[in-house]
Amino acid sequence: MRFNVILASNFDSVKRLIVFSGAGISAESGIQTFRDAGGLWENYKVEEVATHEAFSRSPELVLEFYNLRRRAIAKVEPNDAHLHLRKLEDKFDVTVITQNIDNLHERAGSSRVLHLHGEITKARGAQGKHEIEDIGYTDIKLGDKATNGSQLRPHIVWFGEDVPEYENAMNIISTANILIVVGTSLNVYPAAGLIHYAPLEAEKYLVDPNILAGDSLQNFEIISKPAGTGIPQLVQRLLG
Ligand code: NAD
Repeated sequence: MRFNVILASNFDSVKRLIVFSGAGISAESGIQTFRDAGGLWENYKVEEVATHEAFSRSPELVLEFYNLRRRAIAKVEPNDAHLHLRKLEDKFDVTVITQNIDNLHERAGSSRVLHLHGEITKARGAQGKHEIEDIGYTDIKLGDKATNGSQLRPHIVWFGEDVPEYENAMNIISTANILIVVGTSLNVYPAAGLIHYAPLEAEKYLVDPNILAGDSLQNFEIISKPAGTGIPQLVQRLLG
């Protein structure tokens, strides 16, 4: 009984640290962000490759776009930012909420990662009720079928589609004692709105070389550095 009480009080004293990451955290691993390519994603217009309409109109082009992304992600490695965020688990109760479809947080060893916009190494049926399937780094081709018999598509949340993990992410962020936002332009909604669910009193940091402090970031300490430099420095401070 006494043991339980000690355990509970230890658990209560562990701070909850939430990381909210975007494409910028993977830039130094060699994966291009949207904004740095002038609003394009690897030279494609988003509406040509990342919407349901695009998939209905040109399924082969869309599948090829994601096949190329998947092959590129297979070749890159987590960088110092991903690796240092993993170290925070030594002291904090950490959850990573990422807008990224790559798996670099997992490959760096982070144990709790929620993907708001899906995962490139997973696929599902384009129609009807579907199961999410692990496909690793294999290509998806036109004619490949999901378990429900419909065309296989990447397990990605396209623009204009619902974000099924949004509520879950909102609940998680609302429990933060510490929030670290890294490598996101905060332009893609509804994901960008999540930071406003963090409690007022939470410690808040934003690491991005290009973000300017605006009204919506009033309570944030802005660290204007690339993730590979800014995150290791911040992690060192927090692990103190
Ligand atoms: P974004 O492209 O809109 O913004 C990228 C942000 O990263 C910018 O603010 C930029 O200043 C910052 N940045 C650039 N280099 C950086 C560095 N070295 N360190 C830290 N920050 C850096 O990205 P977003 O806000 O994540 O929105 C784009 C959407 O596109 C996401 O929802 C995601 O699904 C998708 N996307 C994913 C990937 C990926 O999985 N790696 C890559 C591109 C786009």
